[in-house]
Amino acid sequence: MLVTGGAGFLGSHLCDRLLRDGHDVLCVDNFFTGSKRNVAHLLAEPYFELLRHDVTFPLYVEVDRIFNLACPASPVHYQHDPVQTTKTSVHGAINMLGLAKRVKARILQASTSEVYGDPEVHPQREDYWGRVNPIGLRSCYDEGKRCAETLFFDYHRQHGLDIKVVRIFNTYGPRMHPNDGRVVSNFIVQALKGEDLTIYGDGSQTRSFCYVDDLIEALVRMMDTPAGFTGPVNVGNPAEFTMRELAEKVLALVGGTSKLVFRPLPPDDPRQRQPDIALAREKLRWQPTVSLEDGLRETIAYFRALLQA
Ligand code: NAD
Ligand code: UDP
Ligand code: UDP
Repeated sequence: MLVTGGAGFLGSHLCDRLLRDGHDVLCVDNFFTGSKRNVAHLLAEPYFELLRHDVTFPLYVEVDRIFNLACPASPVHYQHDPVQTTKTSVHGAINMLGLAKRVKARILQASTSEVYGDPEVHPQREDYWGRVNPIGLRSCYDEGKRCAETLFFDYHRQHGLDIKVVRIFNTYGPRMHPNDGRVVSNFIVQALKGEDLTIYGDGSQTRSFCYVDDLIEALVRMMDTPAGFTGPVNVGNPAEFTMRELAEKVLALVGGTSKLVFRPLPPDDPRQRQPDIALAREKLRWQPTVSLEDGLRETIAYFRALLQA
């Protein structure tokens, strides 16, 4: 099994899971946002290999299955070098699809709810085409991921590739990058340091947060679905919260004296986001099992240990 972006937050949990299931895992990462620390505990495993490689360059290896996760996922990181973000999504997809074609591997794309942009339908179903700004600050990520989906479906139609496309909604948990600017890690790190929690805008915008273990289960199930099923399929937790509610939950769990402070809303920030997971329930026999409170507890424990180290 090849996992691109395998040293990242989701990728490292996926490597853990695939090894536990008895697979031989090749983890490929350029360590842009991922880190060796996320997979250091796997380096001694005989069926784990770590390769430093940038997926925008060709890769010749022999594998049966490819999980294509390589791509910075947080706005701070993907906007740092937006041209490289588009290249990673687009050239990375072309290279991994070329590889899958040559070795006849099944290939799964980690797509995103961002393909729906700032949506005008709620909750979002897979047949919604989205409302994405093609020239804004988020476009390198959103349009890169949309183009990657196009490439997946064209390789499927044109070359008969066995593809799986998963649209991941906001996911959180241990091994998120502490400085990557995503809301869950920001709020937890701020609360643990006794700093004020930065709410962008008035905090009435919503997101639906899925705990990493639930998400990994969905990826594995999707990879194992029959060849006829390509997706795209939404995976995420439909429980929807405002950012103000999230901040209050984090504060209640961490304790301390932090307050909520309000900062300007970044441009193109989606107002509302909630997955419709009827398709995942039907085809993957999957639904999330971890509540936000339980997931936050695990994540807080991780960041507490990290900050003390
Ligand atoms: P992450 O930043 O922790 O992981 C991405 C990994 O890809 C990192 O290890 C990074 O070093 C690596 N990478 C980046 N560019 C690369 C390149 N050119 N070549 C090789 N490796 C490269 O983020 P994550 O949250 O683990 O996201 C993993 C995937 O899931 C991404 O494709 C992301 O778009 C998708 N996704 C995540 C979420 C979420 O909420 N976490 C939501 C939607 C989609
Ligand atoms: N590719 C790769 N590994 C492989 C096979 C292909 O990285 O094992 C890359 C190759 O560099 C090519 C891309 O995948 O540019 C697309 O391959 P495809 O066969 O679809 O197209 P072509 O080689 O005809 O451009
Ligand atoms: N956000 C916030 N404070 C922060 C970081 C983010 O209020 O410190 C908001 C952000 O504006 C967005 C939501 O939280 O409305 C989720 O942001 P994140 O970057 O985690 O994910 P995305 O916007 O890509 O869903």
